Amino acid sequence: MRLILLGAPGAGKGTQAKNITSKYDIAHISTGDILRDEVKNNTELGIKANQYMKEGKLVPDELVIEMIRRILVKDGSGTGFLMDGFPRTLVQAKKFDEMLANLGQTIDKVINISVEPARLIKRLTSRRVCSSCNNICSIEGNEDSTMQCPLCGGQLYKRKDDNEEVIEQRLKVYEQQTKPLIDYYSKKGLLFEVDGTDTEAEVKERIFSIL
Ligand code: AMP
Repeated sequence: MRLILLGAPGAGKGTQAKNITSKYDIAHISTGDILRDEVKNNTELGIKANQYMKEGKLVPDELVIEMIRRILVKDGSGTGFLMDGFPRTLVQAKKFDEMLANLGQTIDKVINISVEPARLIKRLTSRRVCSSCNNICSIEGNEDSTMQCPLCGGQLYKRKDDNEEVIEQRLKVYEQQTKPLIDYYSKKGLLFEVDGTDTEAEVKERIFSIL
């Protein structure tokens, strides 16, 4: 199964991607996670990507496309994949179609998780990531406590781009550059809409019923 998960920052792509890939045993390919690793390891790509990411801008298409091309070549088709955070521009989407066609592959479904902007901002400002197991969780309602990871007890950290100024920029970039992909995949008959407003479990069930 080859899937793409679309949605604004904070829509719950990362969380639902983990639910989907563990149930269907397909690779979870998160360009954001890969780029953050590249930055952490101070690689050539990481050094190039860092400033864009800090400012909430998109990393240039050619860098991200090359990164995905390498993954596809290396991993082949496997049992399939779920793309989380890619494609993010029409240029990336068209290039991705080309790359898959060359491998004799197609995308099965594109799921768009939608959440209203005010809720996205609230989710992103209270989002935390576990430094041990990478679990994504929320400190909403627990702002004053020194909360630990509910899964493993690890220490939680706030992503550098989850501050209000950068969030505003990321949502603007989403509206301008990524939202047009909804129409792109809808015209191809691949798009499935999911309301991402409710609890993780409810959204998960909605997605599973589509798959
Ligand atoms: P994410 O974890 O998906 O929110 O991505 C974090 C940041 O990584 C984004 O704000 C971009 O700077 C960069 N990024 C991730 N995926 C892409 C992509 N497909 N194209 C360009 N930049 C990306």
